[in-house]
Amino acid sequence: MTKEELWQAVLAQIQFNISSANFATWFKNTKILVKKGKQIIISVPNNFSKEWLENKYNKIILKILREMDQEIKEITYEVSKTATKTKEQIMSRNGYQDDGQLEFPEFKVNKITNLNPRYAFENFVVGAYNEVPHAAISAVVKNPGKIYNPLFIYGGVGLGKTHLIQAAGNKIAESFPKKKIRYIPSEKFISGVVNSIRNHSISSLKSDYKKIDVLIMDDVQFLASKEKTQEEFFHIFNTLYEKNKQIIISSDRPPRAISPIAERLRSRFEGGMIADIGLPDIETRMAILKVKSQERGVNLPEETSEYIATNIQKNVRELEGAVNRIAVYQKLDNQNFDTNAIKSILKNIITNPQKPVSVKKIIQTVAEFYDIKEKEIFAISRRKEIVKPRQIAMYLLRNILSCSFPYIGRKFQGKDHTTTIYAFGKISKELENNEILNEEINLIKQRLCS
Ligand code: ADP
Ligand code: MG
Repeated sequence: MTKEELWQAVLAQIQFNISSANFATWFKNTKILVKKGKQIIISVPNNFSKEWLENKYNKIILKILREMDQEIKEITYEVSKTATKTKEQIMSRNGYQDDGQLEFPEFKVNKITNLNPRYAFENFVVGAYNEVPHAAISAVVKNPGKIYNPLFIYGGVGLGKTHLIQAAGNKIAESFPKKKIRYIPSEKFISGVVNSIRNHSISSLKSDYKKIDVLIMDDVQFLASKEKTQEEFFHIFNTLYEKNKQIIISSDRPPRAISPIAERLRSRFEGGMIADIGLPDIETRMAILKVKSQERGVNLPEETSEYIATNIQKNVRELEGAVNRIAVYQKLDNQNFDTNAIKSILKNIITNPQKPVSVKKIIQTVAEFYDIKEKEIFAISRRKEIVKPRQIAMYLLRNILSCSFPYIGRKFQGKDHTTTIYAFGKISKELENNEILNEEINLIKQRLCS
């Protein structure tokens, strides 16, 4: 058995024994470097993989190896020199200088591509929740414009969309230095279009965009109800698409749920690959905390990490916020913190593990999600854009807070309780086989809990 075969066999068995999130996080890019007598050296991509394999998985790895080769007694883990990219390397590869601030490096955004070099694949944790979009984007990065075009990635707030699509941009810039790449948040695109219409320079804006090889548009949901901008985007999109230029799009919801958006644009989005980012499980959350604390030079004991990961569930940005906060305290007072100290430091972030959801919050969140005003949800209107959010708000009041039907009716301007029963029944029924609606409601629930 060659060492490659041996490792393959180990991986195959481990995969059965641990969650796929963990498998992806800890065992990706590992291999047997040396096999000599009783000793095995395993190469791992970074320090945190090393630590986890040593502390958590060493026993099982050794057990499996010994089942195949009795002689093996000892494993050491070595961080691969080629696979690791240090912060300095990430910055210098695009010509950025470290400004000397070691703990909170300020990365400089590239003026041409708009990309921020802090977003890299090397510091992006992959788990079951983002495996699919990560795989799709990795394929695109190797072969821009050739597969999955457009690539549409969606998911809730703070779950890594911007990180992932910018990492793709940075990686393409590295592998294909000649390609013109542009990252653009849709709000910026909108203001660009508005300004150039005002300055009569719209044709130069368009021809500028049409020269791009890889267009990355972030938070495309903001184009909803911006008709003029949508039209310009549609033309740019088509030109690039026809020339096999890669288009990567992110959104906080699937194309179907972006309303109102021109049908032709929606069907363009749906014509490529759509992948969603779900919610990270606890072990992936801990893995993310580990990466973030290493980046910040923060000492984060396992117990503390578990405490944070248990209480912050729906938003990676908040996990990061917790680490930043601890970093500040550790810098001021360089002693080891116990979980009690951490609890008090984080009390503003982790107020109540299960934040109570209020009637007001449900209504606000639904209105915001469907991009209508809060008072419109109460208005007497039969417009589809209003009726649907209203029915969903009613449904959620019942479903989450168990409000009585007459109470919900009163909340909605004295509507008869039969109306609320009807709304609840209709949405419940639709949920049985309408995947899009399911997804929308899940996204709304995610927001309610974050
Ligand atoms: P979104 O665009 O979905 O709102 P971001 O990409 O801005 O979310 O992510 C929020 C923060 O969390 C960023 O600082 C990002 O670096 C970090 N982050 C999100 N997902 C991951 C991940 N899987 N691994 C490492 N960091 C992540
Ligand atoms: Mg974002």
